[in-house]
Amino acid sequence: MKKKILVTGGAGFLGSHLCERLLNDGHEVVCLDNYFTGQKQNVVHLLKNPYFELVRHDVTMPFFIEVDEIYNLACPASPIHYQYNPIKTIKTSVMGAINMLGLAKRIKAKILQASTSEVYGDPKVHPQTESYWGHVNPIGERSCYDEGKRAAETLFVNYHKQNNVRIKIIRIFNTYGPRMHPNDGRVVSNFIVQALKGEDITIYGDGSQTRSFCYVDDLIEGMVRMMDSREDFTGPVNIGNPGEFTILELAQKVIGLTDSSSKIIYQPLPSDDPMQRKPDITLARKELGWEPKIHLEEGLIKTIDYFKTITR
Ligand code: NAD
Ligand code: UDP
Repeated sequence: MKKKILVTGGAGFLGSHLCERLLNDGHEVVCLDNYFTGQKQNVVHLLKNPYFELVRHDVTMPFFIEVDEIYNLACPASPIHYQYNPIKTIKTSVMGAINMLGLAKRIKAKILQASTSEVYGDPKVHPQTESYWGHVNPIGERSCYDEGKRAAETLFVNYHKQNNVRIKIIRIFNTYGPRMHPNDGRVVSNFIVQALKGEDITIYGDGSQTRSFCYVDDLIEGMVRMMDSREDFTGPVNIGNPGEFTILELAQKVIGLTDSSSKIIYQPLPSDDPMQRKPDITLARKELGWEPKIHLEEGLIKTIDYFKTITR
């Protein structure tokens, strides 16, 4: 059945892939974005589709529309961008959630929240299961994002309990792929751009911290499956790739795959930078029949090919 779907943050990295996927599935898509970290460029190829609409709007302000489903992705995701204006970041998460949940309640739409592995903070349980409450510094550099996303989860759960809003929450672990912004500051894009330009590869700390990297196509598949999952499954559910790598290993892989002459240099580790992160995806496997298919090397090659087209 053709659905009308609102994607907030639709001109961003993940949002643009989601809009494309939903259009390919035959739906009508309204993409809402204030272009803080996203860009028109990410969705310009979709504008020729008559079932695609692009709206400039800030989710901290109410928005009125009739749709069947809402994917709420609007929020800067990279540490340098969410720390640029921390008050705005928490407003985007919290007021954005309130505005979108209010809309979902009024029009009886189903709504999915793009939450994050950051709700686990610097985790003391490894790998992270959904039942783990997390270890977050409420006044640290990352708190505007982490606590904003935690409060958004609280709002989602309570709109569901109190107002019967149909909700879905996914906790996204580090995702990478084409259309990451080259100056976005996240580790995969930084390393690839540095390697392609022959610049030093900047490892923060000693590179022993770990992350688990999910390729964007796998992530989008998990997100859509969650939206379509059985009515009483609200999540939260982890969506990520359990393959765990140190940041040093990532740097070495990128140097190898780009055949780069770049040297690794070490810079100070930012405060509250989580030491390890790896999703337990047992719940996603059981409820969504989902697991990632694309291994790190394969995904890196696709991402490097993309960056070659945009990096001089
Ligand atoms: P992104 O920065 O590329 O996309 C975010 C989009 O939201 C951008 O287009 C930005 O302009 C828009 N936006 C920001 N503030 C807004 C506001 N106030 N009103 C309207 N639009 C606004 O980041 P992304 O990687 O595509 O992340 C998308 C979502 O997924 C975010 O909510 C993020 O927290 C979540 N997430 C992403 C990852 C990841 O690894 N990519 C991991 C965990 C969670
Ligand atoms: N990182 C790094 N060099 C960079 C960018 C990031 O060593 O140029 C590290 C960062 O300190 C963190 C990891 O890579 O330990 C992942 O960083 P990212 O900003 O991509 O995501 P997050 O910390 O939110 O998982």
